[in-house]
Amino acid sequence: MNPIDGSDRVRAGEPPTLRAFFALWPSAAIRDELFGWARSCQASSEGRLVRRENLHATLAFLGEIDRGRLRELASLAREVVGESFELVLDRVGYWPHNRIVYAAPASVPAPLSLLATVLALRLAEAGWRTEARAYFAHVTLLRAARRAPADVRVAPLRWRVDDIALVHSTRSSGRLAYRPLERWTLAH
Ligand code: ATP
Ligand code: MG
Repeated sequence: MNPIDGSDRVRAGEPPTLRAFFALWPSAAIRDELFGWARSCQASSEGRLVRRENLHATLAFLGEIDRGRLRELASLAREVVGESFELVLDRVGYWPHNRIVYAAPASVPAPLSLLATVLALRLAEAGWRTEARAYFAHVTLLRAARRAPADVRVAPLRWRVDDIALVHSTRSSGRLAYRPLERWTLAH
């Protein structure tokens, strides 16, 4: 069953809103590799590791949304999915302004640029609050890092991206967890 169907009925005790975002959701094998990268970076950058099971690449951040609009998001996602692609992550970087260490591709594949652009456009048209910043494909590896990673050499990681996910972000007892609510397959 489509997990989103019917979920727009707010159940007793369930909050009427949830924190959500669209993302590329890696396989366990890709996550393991990226977690290894994160540990290598931590030696020089310090900071906090993103939990292995939370590693992802955000496509579009939605923030707090009404549960009643989940189905609308699902149909929007169905409309925007295009071709599948390979994302080759081959470098790590550091943003001093938010103290994040991230993994990034040398170049963004055309189907990914298109997907991010069309998704942002459709979200804006449909009245969702969207990000004004330009899309930058990355996977956050460390938070509260003190400095850029030094002497970290990574072998290019080939991530075959076959779908996009709508992810629920939760925090309970201070622990952040991301859970894909539904995924939409990209065309081959
Ligand atoms: P927390 O905010 O609780 O410290 P977090 O940033 O990992 O943790 P969320 O805020 O739920 O968790 O964000 C989910 C994902 O969306 C993360 O990848 C985050 O970097 C990204 N994100 C959050 N806010 C924005 C934003 N304003 N623009 C773009 N991406 C965002
Ligand atoms: Mg955040």
